[in-house]
Amino acid sequence: MINIVLFGPPGSGKGTQAQHLIEKYNLKQISTGDLFRFNMKNDTPLGQLAKSYIDKGELVPDQVTIDMLVHEVKKPTDTAGFIFDGFPRTAGQTEALEQIVNEVLGAPISICLSLVVEDEALVQRLLKRGETSGRTDDSNEEIIRNRIKEYYAKTAEVAELYKQQGKYVEVNGVGSIEEISEKLFAEVDKIQK
Ligand code: AMP
Repeated sequence: MINIVLFGPPGSGKGTQAQHLIEKYNLKQISTGDLFRFNMKNDTPLGQLAKSYIDKGELVPDQVTIDMLVHEVKKPTDTAGFIFDGFPRTAGQTEALEQIVNEVLGAPISICLSLVVEDEALVQRLLKRGETSGRTDDSNEEIIRNRIKEYYAKTAEVAELYKQQGKYVEVNGVGSIEEISEKLFAEVDKIQK
């Protein structure tokens, strides 16, 4: 089983690269951002709660996010593993994920792939995406900068935890989509050998 944590600031291309990794390794993607957006679109109680944080570019509280993730991991699937996109974002979520994958899947996190893109490029990419995505959190530069700031403030400790386990790999997220995918595949292939 391959369980990948895909790491990277908003706008680093996580979603696109997750798609390529899914196809290549037959994985199920769990994107906490997508799950929150689905709930907001359907105006569920979870969506209403998440919206109050997401609209400000803040993180949704850990317990709410973890409960949603557990529910998703427990759903039956015939894939060869999972790709966690946008989760974990805090040390608490990292510990929870470790426990969830061990208990529910009986397998550890294999690798944490981190896409690296500098801040100004991220802001420009997100503003551009905001022109068509319809996402309120993509349309305002101040909110975008806050999301990037939140990402680094909270996720530095997540990177540290995976570094300590020797599972953290940085990949340059600037270049053609295919080039970046190839670099990610090479890292996954290394751990499968
Ligand atoms: P994303 O699509 O991953 O950029 O997520 C969009 C927004 O959803 C984030 O700015 C957060 O407000 C919220 N969110 C997504 N994943 C998480 C998470 N793991 N923990 C807390 N909040 C999250």
